Amino acid sequence: MASRQIVKLAKELGFKSSKELMEILKGLGIEKPSNFSVLEEDEYEKFRKYYERRGQAEPAPPQATAPLVREAPPKREDAAPAAVSVIAPPKAAPQEETVQAPAKPKVKPTGQPRPPVVAVLGHVDHGKTTLLDQIRKTHVAQGEAGGITQSIGAYQVEYQGKKITFIDTPGHRAFTGMRARGAQATDMAILVVAADDGVMEQTREAIAHARAAGVPILVAINKIDKPGVDLKRVKAQLAEEGLTPEDWGGETITVPVSALTGQGLDELLEMILLVAELEELRADPKRPAQGIIIESHLDPTRGPVATAILRDGTLRERDVVVAGTAWGRVRALLNDRGQRITEASAGLPVLILGLSHVPPLGIPLEVVDSPAQAKKIVEERQEQERRARLQRAHLTWEDVLARAAAQKGVLRLILKADTLGSLEAATNELQQLQTDDLKIEILFAGVGTINESDVLLAASSEDEVSVLGFRVELDPKAKEVAEGEQVTVRTYDIIYQLTEDVRKALKGLVEPEFKELKIGEAEVRGVFKIPKVGTVAGCYVRDGVVLRHAQVRVMRNGSPIFQGKLQSLKRFDQDVREVPKDKECGIKIEGFEDVKVGDRLEIFTLRRVDTL
Ligand code: GDP
Repeated sequence: MASRQIVKLAKELGFKSSKELMEILKGLGIEKPSNFSVLEEDEYEKFRKYYERRGQAEPAPPQATAPLVREAPPKREDAAPAAVSVIAPPKAAPQEETVQAPAKPKVKPTGQPRPPVVAVLGHVDHGKTTLLDQIRKTHVAQGEAGGITQSIGAYQVEYQGKKITFIDTPGHRAFTGMRARGAQATDMAILVVAADDGVMEQTREAIAHARAAGVPILVAINKIDKPGVDLKRVKAQLAEEGLTPEDWGGETITVPVSALTGQGLDELLEMILLVAELEELRADPKRPAQGIIIESHLDPTRGPVATAILRDGTLRERDVVVAGTAWGRVRALLNDRGQRITEASAGLPVLILGLSHVPPLGIPLEVVDSPAQAKKIVEERQEQERRARLQRAHLTWEDVLARAAAQKGVLRLILKADTLGSLEAATNELQQLQTDDLKIEILFAGVGTINESDVLLAASSEDEVSVLGFRVELDPKAKEVAEGEQVTVRTYDIIYQLTEDVRKALKGLVEPEFKELKIGEAEVRGVFKIPKVGTVAGCYVRDGVVLRHAQVRVMRNGSPIFQGKLQSLKRFDQDVREVPKDKECGIKIEGFEDVKVGDRLEIFTLRRVDTL
């Protein structure tokens, strides 16, 4: 019977999503409210005949659950598009999807199935921690129960003989913090929504974060043990957020649970495994290991300690690993229970000892051939980081936005405001600035102070995303993260200024143009190496003025050899904002240590030339 539930049948036949199968069924006159619906005998028969007529692989007989796709994938892929397009209803949007999706030659993932890595997100107090604790308590891998648990930021459970890895730090901040540097540890997100409270501000934030990560979202409607909870209300709210539950005709799997009593948790685990199967998560144990750092710290006795979740391959003791600019030979590996292991396979959270320093969260970890190779990679990365920093230092916010938008034709923003009213006003104003060629996409719009979560969401995006605040402030933690992650945050009190800035950025897209404005010239007369600071040039200002926040071009024998920014400007050990002609000063150039006596420093600023 199992083969006739739409979602399972779709999986067996290798459809990318059960929606595609539902569209085909619809074309055959079989309309079902959800992908969890079961096909009646005659409906299944009708579908089977159609499927055979199209010359495809024999679908599984009603009773069997043979995985057809795995046996005959090429045949299906070749035949499916034509078949689907013939019967798809001639409606624009669904048809397009129906025709295209199966036509995409799906690269069959190689290797063996690996455990899914799951993150738990949701509003504060909706039960994320309780859920994680309850699952851990009831489902620790067989034979391991009772052991002293050492939390390493993730744990693995076994359900129906299959493993699932849960990231133990709940919440979208941790989730996106891990993603902020471009790597993704998580395969799916469990959105916890308390049934008595419903969708709240942080629920909406969490949805935005999970969507930005592009991972499937499963909803756990929690606290159903509480008297008088109204599931319908929560489902309606979810539908409003674009997460229409599957029993309402949508695509979102929702499972009512009680983290407190454990009710519904088995079904939740089952659904996680089902989604994992649909996602075809695989790993090849023969490959060198690849993973993502999810936790790291400096241990007073063990040195740098990092926890990674492995995505592929096998990690062994003595392997040489690189993570960002940290590297080392693995001295010891510990599993999620603090036990020493000699090798770790994909999906397993593993604690690694032996790195040169503490790597940041969310960066990939990889195994390389030798220490020499590791060092080379690290050096290249350091150089790259330095260059990127320098380059970025030249650009104004408008330039950054303009450049980002120019690449994609979309300007991506996160918008926060003090009230719902001002949020709407600002959103409307921004929408009016859109043109046919350029769209503004607001990744997340919310009420309240700009917080760490907003900045992390911006940082984690592949594209340049700026955070704009309207009549709100930036909280200190968010400020710190914004500086570290180089996210631009702007706050405004007047809506006109906000739209003006964005308008200017968009205008710059047409043709951003800069003009150099020379403001001064200095001659290097002495060079001083200062510990912890670097090379400082003792200069004499020959012309104009030297400004602290200006750009500098180093000229040697008449040729430019470096261009960058001033890092500091001093007169008699005092930081100053400017030094006029015929005076002496000390200049430190950011990222340049090679300055020599006799070099000439051209001091200039960049001005944007408006083209409209
Ligand atoms: P988090 O902030 O999302 O991690 O939420 P917690 O797991 O800390 O839970 C917040 C509160 O809700 C705690 O007092 C929990 O005991 C309670 N809670 C969590 N899950 C349930 C549940 O399923 N039923 C009931 N009645 N209370 C729950």
